[in-house]
Amino acid sequence: MSRFAHKLAVVTGGGRGIGQEIARALAAEGAKVAVLSRNAASCEKAAEAINADYPGAATAYAVDVADHAAVQELAKRIGDELGPVHILVNNAGVTRDGLLMRMKEEDWDTVLDTNLKGAFNTVKAFMRVLMKAEDARIINISSICGLIGNAGQTNYAASKAGLIGFSKSVARELAGRGVTCNVVAPGFISTDMTEDLPPAIKDAVLAKIPLGGFGSTQDIAAMVAFLASPAARYITGQVIAVDGGMTM
Ligand code: NDP
Repeated sequence: MSRFAHKLAVVTGGGRGIGQEIARALAAEGAKVAVLSRNAASCEKAAEAINADYPGAATAYAVDVADHAAVQELAKRIGDELGPVHILVNNAGVTRDGLLMRMKEEDWDTVLDTNLKGAFNTVKAFMRVLMKAEDARIINISSICGLIGNAGQTNYAASKAGLIGFSKSVARELAGRGVTCNVVAPGFISTDMTEDLPPAIKDAVLAKIPLGGFGSTQDIAAMVAFLASPAARYITGQVIAVDGGMTM
C-alpha cells in the first residue's frame, strides 16, 4: 500500500519514541518525511534508520519547536529543499513533573512552550503551504492527561488540553481550505517517557487499563497514518484516544 506516495510529511519530535514510529509508518507507505528534533544527532540517527528500510525517504532537521523564528526559518528551508508539505504531525513533547505546590515557573514555561506553543509555531509556519495543498492534514499528539488531568502534571495536562482547544479552532479555521486537524490522545505507551515511572505507579496505571498492558508506538503511528490518509477525509476537529480503554 502506498497511501502517501508524493506526499511530504513533517514530524516533530521524530528523533525517538512515538515520533520516530510515526515517521517510519508514513515513510513505509511512500511519504517523504522531514524528521525534526532539538538534538541533531538524534533526528539524524532516526532518519538513517528509516532510510535503511525506505531509501531516501527521511531527512533530518534539528530545531527547537519552541523557537518561533527558528521554526519559520526551517519551514522555508524545508520548502526549498523538499517541496510543499502535505502532512504536519506535532508530536514533540516534554514533561517536567511535580506537584503544583513545588512546581517551578521554568517547569511550567518549558512544558507550555514546547507542547503548546511549539504547535502554534509549526502550524503558523506551514499553514499557507498546507492551505494550498490538496487534502492537507494536521495531526497533533496530545495525551489522555489533557482529557482527565493527572496529579503531578498540571503543566503537562494544561499544555495537552490547550492543544485540544487549539486543534479544534484550527480545524474550524482551515476546514474551508480542505485542511483537517485532528488530535490523537495516547494513553500509556512504552517509550523513554514512560520507562522511568516508579514500579508502584506503573502497577497502579496498569490496573486502570481495560485492554491490559501499555500501548506500543505502533498503536499510535497506525492511528496517525489513518488520520493522514484519504480514508479520513471527512474527519476533523476530533480527539481520538488510543489508550486501551482507559478514558472510555
Ligand atoms: P520521547 O521523550 O521519547 O520523545 C520526544 C521527542 O520530542 C524527542 O524526539 C525529542 O527530541 C523531541 N523534542 C522534545 N522537545 C523538543 C523541542 N523543544 N523541539 C523539538 N523536538 C523536541 O516522547 P514520546 O515518544 O513518549 O512522546 C511523544 C509525544 O507523545 C509527546 O508529545 C508526548 O507528550 C505524547 N504522549 C506520550 C505518551 C507516552 O506514554 N509515551 C502518552 C501520552 C502522550 P530532542 O530531545 O532531541 O529534542
